Amino acid sequence: MDCLFCSIAKGEIPSKCIYEDESVFAFHDIDPQAPVHFLVIPKQHIASPADINAENSGVVGHIFEVIAKLAAEQGLENGYRVVTNCGKDGGQSVGHLHFHVLGKRSLAWPPG
Ligand code: AMP
Ligand code: ZN
Repeated sequence: MDCLFCSIAKGEIPSKCIYEDESVFAFHDIDPQAPVHFLVIPKQHIASPADINAENSGVVGHIFEVIAKLAAEQGLENGYRVVTNCGKDGGQSVGHLHFHVLGKRSLAWPPG
């Protein structure tokens, strides 16, 4: 299967990696929307948040542990936003589950 983020997680496509373990990969977004903008993904292919289920949800909790650690490392002590877009209306453009982490600027709410 051809999946951009599977290829990034395997190191087949280069990225600015900031963290990796046996189940999770994190890297800087190629088109940052904030001074700090990185993505955290499961190494396992999960297509979108709609595909999280009892069998694969363990990695999602682990991803949030990793996000807390990386946010502290990246100096986001004033706060940050975690975003997961789902499907067409949610604005998802890459079909592999990913969590955006945005920080170092004040972010509007609600989103547009
Ligand atoms: P989404 O629109 O929520 O699916 O987010 C996909 C994100 O992946 C966007 O913010 C893109 O800028 C980012 N992106 C796409 N290709 C790459 C890449 N090769 N390396 C890093 N980030 C990427
Ligand atoms: Zn994938």
